[in-house]
Amino acid sequence: MDGKLVASRVKEEVATAVAGLDYTPGLATVLVGDDPASHSYVRGKRRDAGQVGIRSIHHELSHTVAQSALDALIDELNADEEVDGILVQLPLPDGLDAETIIERIDPAKDVDGLHPHNLGLLALSRPGLRPCTPSGIMRILDEYDIAVSGVKVVVVGRSFLVGRPLALILSEKGVDATVTMAHSRTRDLAAETTEADILIAAAGSPGLITAEHVKPGATVIDVGVSRTDGGLVGDVDFESVVEIAGAITPVPGGVGPMTRAMLLVNTLRAAEARRG
Ligand code: NAP
Repeated sequence: MDGKLVASRVKEEVATAVAGLDYTPGLATVLVGDDPASHSYVRGKRRDAGQVGIRSIHHELSHTVAQSALDALIDELNADEEVDGILVQLPLPDGLDAETIIERIDPAKDVDGLHPHNLGLLALSRPGLRPCTPSGIMRILDEYDIAVSGVKVVVVGRSFLVGRPLALILSEKGVDATVTMAHSRTRDLAAETTEADILIAAAGSPGLITAEHVKPGATVIDVGVSRTDGGLVGDVDFESVVEIAGAITPVPGGVGPMTRAMLLVNTLRAAEARRG
């Protein structure tokens, strides 16, 4: 399953919708410190925004910035009428509290969908801004006509960023998967995963999922991204699993581009909801 291809389709949709607006949606990115991976992610997000006609407003702060200064910046962006979405790139350097910062963002501008208000709406199956990676995974399953209703899905990982919201979405009424969330305390991971019609690996553990973990014909989504000397690798041992899976996403070029594309969708939705 080609995440780049589906992401380019999503971006075209957003570009068309943005072109039809009588205002320009604005996405504010906040980057703290000098972590090279974070810089590269934010560069990509800003480039994507530009490509679909979303204005990018960028703030870069030193890793020594005081929490109070970061708070003040969020307040300023919350109040700025030209800003529809606010993205604070995570992880934040030591000494800064990500939870406090996320909770300070106006939920209506929380395009990462990580504010407790939006995660609460998700838990209640109500409309709201939803986290980008789970939304991207749902879209790629849809694009490739992978049936979800009634099937067994195993999600490896239970973070508030990926695993947990994804499990909530998959088990919603109307989506109707039967979901198991596995984690580092799961007694026998392979016993769980070999039951899965759809196996989603979001553990951040390179090569964790091998052919022995996969039911023949299953759909395998690899969310993991780890930087190794050999480049970016996922949680799935692609070479062995591709032989047995019915469909599989690669790393890179799978979930990553979808996550970025869904940030644009969320920015558009936030703009439409706020500006009417
Ligand atoms: P995280 O907060 O570290 O959570 C990892 C989860 O995986 C935890 O629930 C952990 O269990 C579980 N886990 C770790 N090792 C395991 C093992 N050996 N067996 C079973 N479960 C295990 O990470 P995250 O933020 O969810 O991200 C997960 C991965 O996805 C990372 O590689 C990250 O870089 C990647 N990611 C990719 C994208 C994308 O767009 N492609 C977006 C977001 C994240 P415990 O809860 O028991 O510790």
